[in-house]
Amino acid sequence: MSIDFIEALSANNLGAIKAVPKTDVHCHAFLSTRRENMERWLGHSLTKPPLKMKGLDGMHVYIDEVLAPHLEHRQGFERVAVSAMDDAVQDGVVMLEMSFDIRLVKFYPDGLTELRSFLDALVERYREQINLRPELGFARECADDSKLMRLAHEAIESGVYRSIDLYSHQEACPPEAVQPLYKKARAAGMKLKAHIGEFGGAEEVQRTVEVLDLDEVQHGIGAAESADVMRWLSENQIQLNICPTSNVMLDAVSDLAAHPIRILYDNGVPVTINTDDLMIFGQSVSEEYRNLYQAGVFSAQELDDIRRASLEALD
Ligand SMILES: [Zn+2]
Repeated sequence: MSIDFIEALSANNLGAIKAVPKTDVHCHAFLSTRRENMERWLGHSLTKPPLKMKGLDGMHVYIDEVLAPHLEHRQGFERVAVSAMDDAVQDGVVMLEMSFDIRLVKFYPDGLTELRSFLDALVERYREQINLRPELGFARECADDSKLMRLAHEAIESGVYRSIDLYSHQEACPPEAVQPLYKKARAAGMKLKAHIGEFGGAEEVQRTVEVLDLDEVQHGIGAAESADVMRWLSENQIQLNICPTSNVMLDAVSDLAAHPIRILYDNGVPVTINTDDLMIFGQSVSEEYRNLYQAGVFSAQELDDIRRASLEALD
């Protein structure tokens, strides 16, 4: 099987790359199917995202103007989530840690119980093809909203989520603001993750891992600026779940060939390769592997090592 993956990359055979098992442990349900699928439902095309957006603010301009009007309701969200499962299956993803933002509860008259039923049914419906591990998503700007914080605590108690992730603007709240939530998630046996180091800040990566006792970091590419932080991540085996096309399009990285994933890998930091928001960035996990190979960032053997390590990390 491994040899097939190496041959498939060398031959630029995307179909064969897709056929090999992979994981996606950094993606967000709200934007996780291809834009083309949504265009088909809507019956018209949608403006493409710019090839370069100015960070998270630039991305949110695009989301608010083009995508959100079609998604901000229960039907839109559920259609995307189901379609995302089909996209992942088609791409050879066998394990998917997809985050579901706590604010999605607002689409359900019966609240968390009803969202939970949808998630349970989604896991069950795809069980034979893919191991979906729903992830609780919490945006930093929600940390001072007591209602949402209480809801997030209830979500942990519900038992449906297997991991937790914190995201959005880093300056919106310090990691200490969600420490009780993360302690609760830890006690519930969940995997702990947070977006950090997407736009620089090696020290902040280490600090956040320490404050929240993180198992893994979403992005974390800023760590490549510090040999000390990379050594620390390597020694503690803190995995960085990296989304190369997202980093390039949001201008955290100038182009794929210059992506710091190479430096992180060479310094012994565990890395995985993921999609982030397929609706915006447009590259499946298989395509991300292919792109990194074609840009000369990794050899086919190294990409296969990364792929196999991501599968072995499963419990
Ligand atoms: Zn992300």
